Formats: sequence, structure tokens, C-alpha cells
Amino acid sequence: MPNTPAENDHNPWDADSAIASLVRDAPQAIVALDIDGRIVAANRAAADLAEMPEVQLHGRDLSELLGTGFTARVASAAETLTDNEPMSFATTVNSRHGAIMPVQVMILPERTGHHEIAAYVVLTPTGASARAPETVEPVVFIDGDIEAIFNSSATAILFFDLNGRIFRTNPALQQMLAHDADTLRGMNVLDLVHESDRRPPGADGNDPFSDLVAGRRNHYEALRRYIHRDGHLIWAQVTVSVVRDEAGEILYFISIMQDVTEMKLREDVAVIANETADSFNEGLQAIAEELAVQLGFQAAHVLLVQEETKRVLPTGIWYQERPGMLPNFCALTAATTFSPGSGHVGRVFSSHVATLDQDLQASSDSLRIAAAIDDGLHTGLFVPMIIHGDVVGVIEFYSTADRDVDPGLLDTLTRIAPQLGWFVERERSKETLRRKSAALERSNRDLDRFASVASHDLQEPLRAIGRCAHLLGERYGDELGDAGQLLHFITDGVQRMESMIADLLRYSRISTQAAEFTLVDLNDVVEDVLQDLAVAIDENDATVERAELPTVRGNDAQLHQVFQNLISNALKYRAEAPPRIRIDVGARGAAWLFAVKDNGIGIDPAYHEQIFDIFRRLHGRTQYTGTGIGLAIVKRIIEQHQGRLWVESEEGRGAAFFFTLPIPGGDGATHGNTATLEDRAAR
Ligand code: ADP
Repeated sequence: MPNTPAENDHNPWDADSAIASLVRDAPQAIVALDIDGRIVAANRAAADLAEMPEVQLHGRDLSELLGTGFTARVASAAETLTDNEPMSFATTVNSRHGAIMPVQVMILPERTGHHEIAAYVVLTPTGASARAPETVEPVVFIDGDIEAIFNSSATAILFFDLNGRIFRTNPALQQMLAHDADTLRGMNVLDLVHESDRRPPGADGNDPFSDLVAGRRNHYEALRRYIHRDGHLIWAQVTVSVVRDEAGEILYFISIMQDVTEMKLREDVAVIANETADSFNEGLQAIAEELAVQLGFQAAHVLLVQEETKRVLPTGIWYQERPGMLPNFCALTAATTFSPGSGHVGRVFSSHVATLDQDLQASSDSLRIAAAIDDGLHTGLFVPMIIHGDVVGVIEFYSTADRDVDPGLLDTLTRIAPQLGWFVERERSKETLRRKSAALERSNRDLDRFASVASHDLQEPLRAIGRCAHLLGERYGDELGDAGQLLHFITDGVQRMESMIADLLRYSRISTQAAEFTLVDLNDVVEDVLQDLAVAIDENDATVERAELPTVRGNDAQLHQVFQNLISNALKYRAEAPPRIRIDVGARGAAWLFAVKDNGIGIDPAYHEQIFDIFRRLHGRTQYTGTGIGLAIVKRIIEQHQGRLWVESEEGRGAAFFFTLPIPGGDGATHGNTATLEDRAAR
């Protein structure tokens, strides 16, 4: 807009130019804004829209004129104006006399570098004026049945007029906000809504209420916080609808709302728990703050039950609306612990229910509460944190005002106690896990140490005993008489102990020594093993059949041990009939599934797990040789190779040992024997 600074800087539209006259008389409302978003000039249509003389508009902030759709949309006028980009959105204009007029707003930046003007705003009305009758209350026609529903419904309902004035409410709404019908009548509906939730913008940035007024929609939904008479916030899912007469003129609005506070609190706690998963203290702090704000209390403190002593201890985790507002109370709290039943905290610990002490003064029973009163606190609220029926902590809330709390809210808080407790439980189980994994690490280290002790220090003296016993037998054998038998037991015991130590060492080495993995052809492995066992196979008159085996990634020596142990067991635990052993393989997803099957004595299903334990045997030494470590070693090796091992068997019916090994490349390639083996595995 061209102008010469000398004559136009003060009021650009006073000028006698054609453009100035055009703007002055334009049917659309136009205002000019300075860099702070204040009106420096307005045309006639703007003055009409706002229902005030032009001069009264000067110096006002644009947001005073527009509905909250504007402030919700534009973080700060100054920010938009310095952005230098035109923008357009829908909102309402609130006239001085309360009329609500839907408008489309266009903000056009001043691009010529004017000294005083940063932007022009054009307001175009987009719907019928929703001029409210000043005094006459809208007449609501509700017939008998609907009247009954209105009165007995659990859903809160209110009617408000074009000025936002409430003229009718149902008992459910009165109960939800704890106000009686007379108090509510005549109140502005927005006075019941929490400041920051007054008319939130829709997803498109437009104000849904102005859309309603403009007839662009008949209702909209929103989640909003309402203020309960006791000061706490109620989350409600609200549907606002407009009612029009036959001519399309707006008669009034209806808000129907559902109290979703409890659900919202649970959700908030869950969100906080999720967001603060790594820091317990931060999580508790956030929960204390969130709840304090919801409840309208100015301070909160978390106490936790010490499991061993069953006393409730302060954590020092505080929320204070103004930091440092409770010097005496904080200091004394830090020095106080509670036993069940003592003080407010101890009583909640025993009773498991949220409790209110409206007047701390009247019940002042401790130095700590005296300090609270000194610091200006009036009302205390104590909420338990519960796990599996046990109180594990208490959150105490304090108000500087004399506060009442709806019994319904106390019930809600008691109901969410397990949600709060879960928070503590998670931390405790994390702690347990930490302790367990530390213990596991320790025991692995112990095993390592044991392995070296066993290999060097323990074996040496054992051998010495063995040698001495042997010499004793050789030199004095004849003189020993019955004691010779005892000597024999000693030698036997020493030998057994030596082989157990050797086994244990082998077992511990599987994990303590990182095995080198290469591609191993299992046909070669089994070939070698069968050669090693040739004598036993021959002696037992056994037959061994085997499928074509794959190549896997693994440790050659360890895979030898696997087949060696399984095949020699199949020979050892034979039945009457000559042993028949079958080695099979098939693909199962990304793994090979192997089976070593025999027709031996079989294993009672009761022992199917135990046989894999270290030194676990089902038979006496005299019956079958061995220390009971073979299968434990096989299991450990298979697990080191990312596989699984199990047995399927019944007593007297042979045994089938199954194990998996990843297919190299893991693409789940199929193999000729799949079907047969899967069938067997399923049996
Ligand atoms: P060991 O053979 O030294 O006793 P293992 O760990 O190899 O130790 O086996 C543990 C137990 O599992 C054996 O004592 C035996 O009772 C049982 N077992 C192992 N393999 C078989 C098999 N193929 N048939 C029947 N029982 C078996």
C-alpha cells in the first residue's frame, strides 16, 4: 500500500487518497497492525463488527477482538508478523455485546517497509451473525420422555446460549462439577473450562466452535478439562452441538460430556512410566507433579515402603509449585519415617485407601505437620501406591488453601493406586534383575576360577593321593588284610573324582573358552565318530544308518563331542535287541533339525528334563559306566551354537534326541528329509 510517511504514519487511512478512501469504506473489516500485533488503524466495517468506535480499537491487541481460535492458531502475533508470509484461517469475532460472528481471517504482511505498520488483517464474515438476545432466555422444548432421560442420565448435559451463558443443566452435570443448578445458571460456560482448554483448535487449525456458528458443521467433539468445585480438574469427552430454528437461526448449544478423568489419569501414569523408563526418580517426580496439578494441589512428596523394615521412608522427591516454598516442612520430612498406623502416611499404609485431611491444624499430631502449617499448608491428601494388595509407597499432596475433595475423587485415587504401585514394582523387578545378572556374572567368574583351580591345584593333590594309595597297596598289600578292601575304595574314589573333575573342566571350557566357528561338514564329523566307536559298534552288533548331512557353521571339535556322546549313549543304553541307530536331518524354518534315534531302554518322561543336568544319572555306576555329564555337555554345546536340544522317549521304547542348528545364511532352505523328520519330531 503506497503512502508517504510524513502524512500517513499516524493514521494511514485518514489520507485523502483513492486507496485510503477505498479501505475506509470497504465492506470487509480491515485493520492495520504494528509489529506487536496491536491495532493502529481500523476501517468502518471493522468498527461495526467489533461494535465499538474506531478510536477505541486503536492500541488493542488483535487477540482481544478475535476468538481463541486466533490465539490457539498463532503462538504470538509478533511471531507471525515477522514471518512475513500471508496466512488465512477461520475463527470468530467477539463483539463488545457478546455476539459471536464466524469470520475468515487473512493476515497480509506489509511489504513496503512502513515504519509503523507490520501487517493488514482482512476479516470476512462467513456465516449468519449469531447475535444473542440480551436478556431473553432461549426456550428449550423437551417433551416428557426426553425430560426424564435428561434428568436421570449418567451423562452430564448442559445448554448454553449465544453469549456462552448456561441456562440449563442436568443432575449428572451438577454432580460431576459439584455445583447446584442455581449456581450454574447464568455462568459463562468457559468459566467451567480450564484456561488452556478453552476452545481448542480443530485439526486443521480452525476453531471448531466458529465452524459450528457458521453452519459448517452441526457438532464437534473435544477432550477438555473442567474445573470441579473442589478445585481439581475433570477430564471430559465433550460433544458440542448447535440447535437452530426453522429459518436456520441459532437457538442455543448443547454440551454432552462424559467424565473420563480416571481413564486419563491411568493413561498419564502409563505415559510417564513409559517416558521415564530409565529413571525411577524422574518418573516418580513427574507423577507427583502431574497428579498435583490435576488435583489442584501446590505440593507433593513421594514416600516409599522399605521392604525389610516395613517402614515408610521419605524419598526427597518433591513437587513444589514455587520451589523453596516449604523450607521447614521439607527439612522435617527428610528426618521422619513412619511405621504402620502412625501419622497420616502410616495410616494410609495400613488402610490402603486415599485419605483427606482437610484441616491439618485441627489434627496436627506431629512436629512435621506443625512445620507444614508453619509453611502455610492447610489441607493434606494421602494416596497409596499398591502392588498385589500391598502398599509399597504413599504420595502426599498439600494445598495452601482450605480444600475439600469430592469423595468420588478419593475413590478414583484409590482405584489408580495399583497403577502407581506398578511403577515401583517395575523398578523393584529391574533391581532384582540387576542383582540376578550380577550374581550370574559372579558365578560365571567363579566357574572360571574353579576350572583353573580344578585343572591345576585340585588334580595334583588328588593324583598324589592316588599314587600313595597305589604304593601302599604295592608295598604293604599283603600285610593290610581287610584294610586292603578299603584301600581299593580309596583308589576307586580317586579315579572317579579325577574323571569328574576332568568332565567338569570340559564342561566349563565350553563357555569359558570362545570356540572358533568354521563351516563344518557333518558327514565328516559323523564318519570320524563312527570310526572312533567302531569297536563298541562291533561288540554290540549295532547298525548305524544316517541320512546325507548338511554343512553347518560351528566348532568342529564340539560338534564331534555332540555326536560322540549321543551315539555312545545309544550304544550304552541298549536293550536286549542289537542296537539300531538312525541319524536324520530336515529343515525347520531357519534351522536344521537333527535326530539321533535308538531302539534302546528308553527314558521315563518324568526324567526328560533332568537328564540334561550336570552329573544327573538315572542308573547306578555298576549298571552303566559314566559320570552323568555327557548330555549336559551336548546341551551346552548346542546352546552355544544357538540351537535347542530335547528328547522324546518312553521307557522300553527307544529314545530320540533332537537338536537344532542354524542353517548357514538362515534362508530356511529345504531338504529332502524334511517331511519324515518333522513327522518324527511331532510324534
Ligand atoms: P552318563 O551316560 O554318563 O550317565 P549322560 O549325561 O550322557 O550321562 O546321560 C544322562 C542319563 O540319561 C544317563 O544316565 C541315562 O540314564 C540317560 N540316557 C542318556 N542317553 C540315553 C539313551 N540313548 N537311552 C536311554 N537313556 C539315556
